[in-house]
Amino acid sequence: MADLPAASRVLIVGAHPDDPDFFCGGTVARWTAAGTVVAYVVVTSGDKGMPDPAADPLAFSRRREAEQEVSARALGVSDVTFLRLTDGEVFDTLELRARLTAEIRRFRPDLIVTHDPLTRRYRQHPDHRAVGAATLAAAFPACRLATFFPEQVAAGLAPHVVGRALLFGSDQPDTFVDIAPVFERKIAALEQHVSQAGAFPGGLHPRLRRWAEEAGRPAGLALAEAFLAVELE
Ligand SMILES: [Zn+2]
Repeated sequence: MADLPAASRVLIVGAHPDDPDFFCGGTVARWTAAGTVVAYVVVTSGDKGMPDPAADPLAFSRRREAEQEVSARALGVSDVTFLRLTDGEVFDTLELRARLTAEIRRFRPDLIVTHDPLTRRYRQHPDHRAVGAATLAAAFPACRLATFFPEQVAAGLAPHVVGRALLFGSDQPDTFVDIAPVFERKIAALEQHVSQAGAFPGGLHPRLRRWAEEAGRPAGLALAEAFLAVELE
């Protein structure tokens, strides 16, 4: 499939600030331009990404959160929630599933986008696998059944059915989104993550272009983002 997946409300769950923009910022820009409402949940605030290990991790986390908010806004997203777990120490726990279930029941998306927890790209941040696994557990079946986290239902967060998930970072993508028309917007958004500029020696632009070219090749697209689609209904 090589088209923009239709959705009215999309929730994107990423492990770190910049993951949503990095993995699917072009798709986000296309969705928001088409009138889709997009929200981000960011599980950690990225404190392990400090260039200076002696710096204050709390101050650095707040800086990364601010960068994420500016970057999200550049892509048309104003609803960004930070769960503030410790970077590099995320596991697929019942507590994380509960917090993600609450976010899904609050925002009520028809489509959820997150990390592929089972990708065989073994060089992978462990937080990405954990966040992908916990998000899928929250999206199916926890958020739809009132017997999961009933205290949330009692507090007014009604059960909710999510129709589909799209997983980024997959080694077997089957859904390709043409990002050629919005590629420069994606780069401009990612450049707002100023504290991470040193993470891409040689510059962000050439690397992102190469990845988008590789992602688009199976679908015959010049520049794309690629996902594995999972039906949840
Ligand atoms: Zn990450």
